[in-house]
Amino acid sequence: MPETTSTRRLFAADALLPTGWARDVLLEWDDTGKLSAVTPGVEPNGTRRAAGPVLPGMPNLHSHAFQRAFAGLTEFRGEAQDSFWSWRTLMYRFAAKISPEQVEAIATWLYIEMLEAGYTSVCEFHYLHHDADGRPYADDAELSLALLRAARNAGIGLTLLPVLYQTSGFGGLAPSEGQRRFIRSTDSMLRLLDRLRPACEAQGARLGLAPHSLRAVPPEGLRDALAGLDAIDPSAPVHIHIAEQTGEVDACLAWSGQRPVAWLLDHAPVNARWCLVHATHMDADEYRSAAASGAVAGLCLTTEANLGDGIFDFNAWRAAGGRWGVGSDSHACVNAAEELMMLEYGQRLAMRQRNVGADAAHREVATALTLSAVQGGAQAAGRAVGGLAVGQQADFVVLDAAHVALQGLSAPDMLSSHVFASHRTSALDAVYVAGQVRVTGARHALHREAASTFVAARTQLLAKD
Ligand SMILES: [Zn+2]
Repeated sequence: MPETTSTRRLFAADALLPTGWARDVLLEWDDTGKLSAVTPGVEPNGTRRAAGPVLPGMPNLHSHAFQRAFAGLTEFRGEAQDSFWSWRTLMYRFAAKISPEQVEAIATWLYIEMLEAGYTSVCEFHYLHHDADGRPYADDAELSLALLRAARNAGIGLTLLPVLYQTSGFGGLAPSEGQRRFIRSTDSMLRLLDRLRPACEAQGARLGLAPHSLRAVPPEGLRDALAGLDAIDPSAPVHIHIAEQTGEVDACLAWSGQRPVAWLLDHAPVNARWCLVHATHMDADEYRSAAASGAVAGLCLTTEANLGDGIFDFNAWRAAGGRWGVGSDSHACVNAAEELMMLEYGQRLAMRQRNVGADAAHREVATALTLSAVQGGAQAAGRAVGGLAVGQQADFVVLDAAHVALQGLSAPDMLSSHVFASHRTSALDAVYVAGQVRVTGARHALHREAASTFVAARTQLLAKD
């Protein structure tokens, strides 16, 4: 049934607008799901009332959906010194056997978890392309289309970033057997983008490109793929993994004499279309020049902690005017508030200070971090999901003012408690995407059914061959 005008309004006693907290706000949106008016200081006049403070929905700027199926399964000691590279071994084992149906089941459940945890859109960095033998499917877009269906099933906004992956190391090293499902020529990638464009447009998804990393894409592949992407859509988002590991920095130095971020800035037209995922290991010049490029730093705090990557220098980045957002990446944790908490706690531990994330405009850390991460996330997504303002999509999250951690507090304190003191339980009541209610009473309508389909897929994947 089409929505009537009366359902396209919500009254919020407190709402977090791009400029800060406002009282008695009427949110109105049009039939395309875009906010048409955001009016503070009005009477509710019988309009439906939000059950608590309304926040902008958080864009999740970095996801590898299938990795949700083995989150929690690499938390034991294997090699003498476990690192990212031992985690990658298990990831390759899962990647080798997963089917399109399993990808859809895992992603559908993951996207429902995201919605229930405050994310309203996701950038999917999608590198599984081929069948288990490394051959293209009859429809080369099979696995990409499975992800588009999963986003549609869950009702989450999507930026689909097919991944270009060509080599196993700097200097054009041949790909390994474990990478056979990822590998594409540049031409085959550009054909895939052409094939996916109408499918993305049909459901309001944005299509971009993800050169996997400088390890996996040689200079000529990067140059030609970017030129091809420009011919399709010159403003399409470009995401790349960069400087996540010190091992990668050392290998890049050995190959080129430059650190990865410095090399990229010198050899690619990095600008506001770009998302530099991780960018953990930069020197002072790289912090300054990468921030000045306008690119977004894609911080994946819980994954970076889980993999032992290192700590991003948040103060150096912000001092240089750098933009940033958060992603759940490997999905060891799927919770927008916890990414913000982990960002703040990493900085506190490194600096032996408190309230590092506060800024000149907002003294409450959770408020300052939420507003910045929404803006940076929207930029990285290449979609109008930048907060509670006219022209942006009606993506928002309603906190549950009756939650024990929140009851009786002011709106800024409710958000602080949601981020820092809700004990990993959700303090959310409702979540809207493009004006449509996706979560009510902290539950998505497909929660139970999608959970059991996910568990069945994981059980199959864990079964011995
Ligand atoms: Zn990643």
